[in-house]
Amino acid sequence: MNKKCRLVTLSSVGFSLMLSGSIFAHGGEHAGLTEQINTDYKVHLAPLFKHFHQNPELSTVENKTADRMAKELRDAGFDVTENVGGTGVVAILENGDGPLVSMRADMDGLPVEEKSGLPYASTAKQVDPITGNDVFVMHACGHDVHITSLVGTARRMQAMKDEWSGTLMLIVQPAEERVLGAKAMMDDGLYERFGTPDFGLAFHVSSGLEAGKIAVTDGSPYAGADTVDIIIHGVGAHGASPHAGKDPIVLGSQIVLALQTLVSRELPPRDPGVVTVGSFHSGTKHNIISDRAVLQLTVRNTSKATRKVLLDGIKRIAENMGRVAGLPDDKLPEVIVSNESVPPTNNNPELAQRLRALWIKEMGEEIISKKPNKGMGAEDYPFFTTEPYIPSVYFGVGGTPEADFKSAKAGGAPIPSHHSPLFKITPEPAVKTGVEATVHALLELLPSSKITKNN
Ligand SMILES: [Zn+2]
Ligand SMILES: [Zn+2]
Repeated sequence: MNKKCRLVTLSSVGFSLMLSGSIFAHGGEHAGLTEQINTDYKVHLAPLFKHFHQNPELSTVENKTADRMAKELRDAGFDVTENVGGTGVVAILENGDGPLVSMRADMDGLPVEEKSGLPYASTAKQVDPITGNDVFVMHACGHDVHITSLVGTARRMQAMKDEWSGTLMLIVQPAEERVLGAKAMMDDGLYERFGTPDFGLAFHVSSGLEAGKIAVTDGSPYAGADTVDIIIHGVGAHGASPHAGKDPIVLGSQIVLALQTLVSRELPPRDPGVVTVGSFHSGTKHNIISDRAVLQLTVRNTSKATRKVLLDGIKRIAENMGRVAGLPDDKLPEVIVSNESVPPTNNNPELAQRLRALWIKEMGEEIISKKPNKGMGAEDYPFFTTEPYIPSVYFGVGGTPEADFKSAKAGGAPIPSHHSPLFKITPEPAVKTGVEATVHALLELLPSSKITKNN
């Protein structure tokens, strides 16, 4: 299914366009696109967003959301396969020779009780598959914007079939919030079954960006993450006889402080990394020296090299602090790195530059947000693009009106963060910008073979 036709380069398309004077020439040729998206939003996407917002579902049990997405994408003329990696949905539109390009949208909500005050706020509840408790559910990360936009993109790409050539793969991903879904879809043979994309795209709506704007970095919008446990084996004793034991709380404290030198003294200052000890548990009572302490860490990186420095350093510090405390080799602190590691989301720099230039050309200079689109949060999207390596761009789409930022700056209500019960997105500009930016990018990456053939 993967038609490897990478011969149609951007410059060759541009050259042949000049020769033919084709109406498909880039730069304003999709002038009607904004109006078509406006109409689609009013008629179809606005009620669809409201439906998704009021019917959020938790990670891995997004059953009704997946059903609705499958129906919407089938109605848009795509070939749809359900239950890929759990509740995942894959929609394919084959449209002649050309590259295969994927666009991913994640669809899960969060166990949060919505307190946004919106008239269409969620009151939905669901049994949490982790705890078994009946909990409130909310689209507190804006994934409802992602899936609504994906439907908008599907409808536009179907309507504009004459203007592109190749294969479009839309990925509706479950369980992003538990960083499970992307890997589950890959483990279910996503690329073996549907083809390996030549390019990958994804976006996240952001409450920290002005609505109607796009943020795109040439680097890494999201960090890689590792979960690490350090088990400290002490020797228990009476609290009044510390010399008779090996105090794991004192040793654990020394380890916590020594870990602070990893980022500050061992990483090159321009290479970001984070080592956070989020939990430190030991002991039962005032006058007992415990025989065990457990530290729980999250470790963030933006490259394999940084990851190695941090993980090797944690092991070296933990074990050697154990030696400093006089522990024998078979009692040194154990460092356990969970296999639930997430690689960093790394944009392909050339592709990011190409799309930024395209968006400026098609949507205007002011479309690109001045705010940097990078942080040390983690995403599971890179499971789609790391092995095999697929040049990809993960961009940000604004979700908060500029007036709200101004009022927050002037001492008004602060902008609620993602995952907050107060979280809210202004859906209209976010969905429309998401669709328009995605459609422009897809038309760029899936150039029409008819244009070159006509010459
Ligand atoms: Zn989230
Ligand atoms: Zn999210």
